[in-house]
This record gives sequence, structure tokens and C-alpha cells, in this order.
Amino acid sequence: MSNVPVAVVTGSNKGIGFAIVRALCKQFPGDVYLTARDPGRGQEAVAKLKEEGLHALFHQLDIDDLQSIRALRDFLKEKYGGLNVLVNNAGIAFKVRDTTPFAVQAEVTLKTNFFGTRNVCAELLPLVKPYGKVVNVSSMASSSALGGCSQELQQKFRSDTITENELVELMTKFVEDTKKNLHEKEGWPNTAYGVSKIGVTVLSRIQARMLNEKRKGDHILLNACCPGWVRTDMAGPKATKSPDEGAETPVYLALLPPDADNPHGQFLSNKTVRTW
Ligand code: NAP
Repeated sequence: MSNVPVAVVTGSNKGIGFAIVRALCKQFPGDVYLTARDPGRGQEAVAKLKEEGLHALFHQLDIDDLQSIRALRDFLKEKYGGLNVLVNNAGIAFKVRDTTPFAVQAEVTLKTNFFGTRNVCAELLPLVKPYGKVVNVSSMASSSALGGCSQELQQKFRSDTITENELVELMTKFVEDTKKNLHEKEGWPNTAYGVSKIGVTVLSRIQARMLNEKRKGDHILLNACCPGWVRTDMAGPKATKSPDEGAETPVYLALLPPDADNPHGQFLSNKTVRTW
């Protein structure tokens, strides 16, 4: 088994994830795994970094596929006995002009952004080694969507005692409410992406609390962040930040020094803790 530190970035064949891998290749003292659901796109991205003189390793990972997540888990367990840095970056967003029915957009978006991210956490968090770092890439869209929720929902999502099961129930209810076209009446905002990212931010707060309760002595730091508005296939060419600039806050959180005890359980943008 290798003692080399290891970092894993989900959805990193392009966009912000790719830029996070690039930065980690330069700054992380260990093996860096670029992961992609499509091995062809993943290997191409690894080759692109090689042209820049950077060495990333590749492992397949589709966060929608539990078997794929478990294959990565088993590989990390066997080869490294765990992992040191996990960046949950993979995500999707329908374009504003997309005419897919809202209920379908809600189901598909939540499936990857919330449920997929949660499944990766469920399988990989137990493997994170002491002094490890976990970064969940959320979005400022989570804050604005929170503001668009009913007072009752806002209170639940801001609660310091909400459980992961309660959060899963709420995310499931959103999808069900959209199918009945009842979501606005039930206090939800009209954004599937925003609600999926509420899920990611609140999940991060819950997971950080669980780490405090169950693994306090392990000094693991777990946070959610927004990369900013970044020029990628998701956000388009008019966005203000380059992918490398978008990677800055996630990479800052992934590389917090071993003696840091914060931020933890926070939502950050531009390397600054934001009020949730
Ligand atoms: P992007 O260019 O569309 O890249 C998304 C990445 O996620 C791609 O590598 C994609 O792989 C991967 N992915 C999607 N579904 C996946 C799955 N089921 N399993 C594994 N990988 C999957 O988007 P981006 O702008 O870099 O976004 C990265 C993250 O930042 C997302 O979580 C996004 O919500 C968040 N974010 C972005 C912005 C922005 O302005 N760009 C702002 C706030 C937050 P494929 O190539 O196979 O599709």
C-alpha cells in the first residue's frame, strides 16, 4: 500500500474541475486523480496536462452510478488505504432556454448535483484520512435560491440540527412537488439548479457537524464553496472568471494547512466565509 498522499477531483475532464486538478498538480504533495465519467474524455484531459508538464493520474468516476463510485472507493482503499483530499466538483445545469419540462429538469439536476454528490460522500468520507480536506463545489445560486424559499423552508435549511435524512426527504419532496406542479405553492423557488445547490451547501453543513461529533480528533476540514461566475461550458463565454480563477477558492480549501482548524462547515466564495 502506498503512503503517498492522494487527492481526487470529481468531474475534472473540463471546466473548473480540470483547473482544480491543474492547480493541485502544481501544489499538492502527492498523487492527483483527474476523474471523469467518460474514460476517453478523462484520458484526453490527462494528456493535455502532460503537455503542460503536469502529471495527473486517471480513474473513471460517474457520480450517478453507485457501482462506479464503489469501484473508486475500493481502488483508493487498496492502493492508498484512504484519501487525503476530496473535491466534489461534478455538476450539471440546464441552460436557461432549455425547454425540457421543469419536473424533468428537477429530477435530472437533483440526481447528479445532490444525490450523486451525496453518494460520493457516503462512500468516500469514511476513507478520508486525519487532517484530510473535503470541498463540495456549490454555488451562490444556493444562497439566492434559499432567499426564494418560504420562511418555513428557510428555517429548515438554516437549522443547526437538520439531519441528512431530513435533507434527503426535502430534496425528494422538491422533485415530487415539481411533478405535481405544486412546488411554488409548497414554498420552493423556481430553480432546480438552485435547489440542488441548497442541497449541496446544507449537506456540507451537516457533514461537518457529523465530523465534529464522530471524528473530532481527526482534524478533517469540510466546506462548501462557490467558484464564482466562470467561463466554462456550463456558464458560457461571458462569465467573468477564467477556469483557473474559478479554481482558486476550491484549491484554497483543499490545501488548508494541517494546523488550520477553520473554516469548517462553512460556505465560502472568493476565499471568504459567507453567511448562510
Ligand atoms: P462544466 O464545464 O459543465 O463541467 C462539469 C464537469 O462535471 C464535467 O467534467 C462533466 O463531465 C462533469 N459531470 C457531470 N455529470 C457528471 C457525473 N454524473 N459524473 C461525473 N462527472 C460528471 O461545468 P463547470 O462550470 O466546470 O462546473 C463545475 C462545478 O462548479 C459544478 O458543480 C457547477 O455547478 C459549479 N459552479 C459553476 C459555476 C460557473 O460559473 N461555471 C458557478 C457556480 C458553481 P462531462 O464532460 O462528461 O459532461
